[in-house]
Amino acid sequence: MTFNFSAGPAMLPPEVIEQIRADLPEWHWRGVGQGASVMELSHRGRAFEELIAEAEADLRALLAIPANYRVLFMQGGAWGQFAAVPLNLLREDEVAAYAVTGGWSESAAKEAARFGRIEIVARGEAPGYTTIPPRSAWAAFPERLAYVALCSNETVHGNEIHDLAAFARDLPAPLVVDASSHFLSRPMPVAECGLIYAGAQKNVGPAGVTIVIVREDLLGRSGRVIPSVLDYAVMAKANSLFNTPPTFAIYAVALTLQWIKRQGGLAAMEARAIERSQALYAAIDRSRLFRAPVAPAFRSRMNVVFETGDPARDAAFVRFAEARGLSGLKGHRSRGGLRASIYNAMPMAGVEALIAAIEAFEAGEAQHG
Ligand code: PMP
Repeated sequence: MTFNFSAGPAMLPPEVIEQIRADLPEWHWRGVGQGASVMELSHRGRAFEELIAEAEADLRALLAIPANYRVLFMQGGAWGQFAAVPLNLLREDEVAAYAVTGGWSESAAKEAARFGRIEIVARGEAPGYTTIPPRSAWAAFPERLAYVALCSNETVHGNEIHDLAAFARDLPAPLVVDASSHFLSRPMPVAECGLIYAGAQKNVGPAGVTIVIVREDLLGRSGRVIPSVLDYAVMAKANSLFNTPPTFAIYAVALTLQWIKRQGGLAAMEARAIERSQALYAAIDRSRLFRAPVAPAFRSRMNVVFETGDPARDAAFVRFAEARGLSGLKGHRSRGGLRASIYNAMPMAGVEALIAAIEAFEAGEAQHG
C-alpha cells in the first residue's frame, strides 16, 4: 500500500478514481451512455449542463451557501484569483487590506499590488509564521476600504484559521478568503464572507478548475475593464459557461462532491480531519527527533509541517519514508523541512503508516547514534 502526502495536486478518493476509470471510454450520465468520454463532449450538451448544475447544487448544499451568492467554476488557479479579486472588487480610489500570515497570502498581496492600492494590516512572523495575529492585534483599516483579504489555511507554513467567523465579525468591508488548501474539509461561515475561492487540486478534484463563491452585490463592483474570463459578472451571467470550461476537471469535481456527500458531508470531513491531524501532531510532539513548529492553536489540519532541524536528516527521512511507500513528504521548496498534506481523501491508515515511519526512523537514529 502506498500513500501520497503531496500538497497538491493531491490524492483523490479511490472511489472517484475508479468511477473515472469506468467512465473513461464512455461517460455514463444518469445511467445513460453518452457515446464518448466526457473529455470529448461539448460543454453545451445537455449532459454536461446538467452535470455542472448538479455540482453547483451539491456544493451549495454541502456549504449551506445562501441564495444571494453565486458559484463560479473558473480557470487560472488561485493565482488567477490573486489578480481577479482586485480587478473585480477594487476601485481606483480605494484601498484593499491584506493579512499576511504565510507564503500564499504574501503572494496574494504582492499580486494585488500590481492592480491597485493595498495595505498590509496584519503580518505573521516570518519566516515560520507559527502563529496568526488575532483581529485585536491588526492595524486600523484604511479609509475607502474595498475589501479585507486573508488566507484561511497556509499550505506552505501549515497554519490554519480555526475560527474564521471571529475574523469576519464587524469588518467594515467584505472579507475575501483564499480557502484553497482546506476547502470542504470543514463547514465555513459563507454568509459572513464576501468571497471565497479555492483551487480544486487539494480537496476537491484535479488541477484546472477554481471554485469562486461570491456575494451577488460584489459582481461588477470595480467598474473596471478586465479580461472577460476573470470577470465575475461575465462568468455569473453565463453560469460559468462563458467560454469552454475545463470539462474533465469539473466532471471529477462533481464526482468528488458526491463522494463527500456519501461520506456524511462536511461534518464527517471535519471529524476525520481532526482525527488524522491530532494523531499525527501527537506523534510528532511525542518524538524527540521531530518537532512541529506551528503553535498548537494555529496548526493546520490539512498541512502538517514538521522537521528535525537538520536538512540532511530531513532528507534522510524523506528517503526512508519513500522506501516504505510514503511519498510527497518534502517541505515546500521555499521553506524546507517536512510536510505531510492530509486532505479529505487521506485515510487514517495513511496517517498510521506515517506515524509508524516516524517512530521507526527515530528508533533507527537512536541506535546508530
Ligand atoms: N493559495 C493557496 C493557499 C495555495 O495552497 C496555492 C497552491 N498551492 C495557491 C494559492 C496557488 O494556487 P494555483 O497554483 O492553483 O494557482
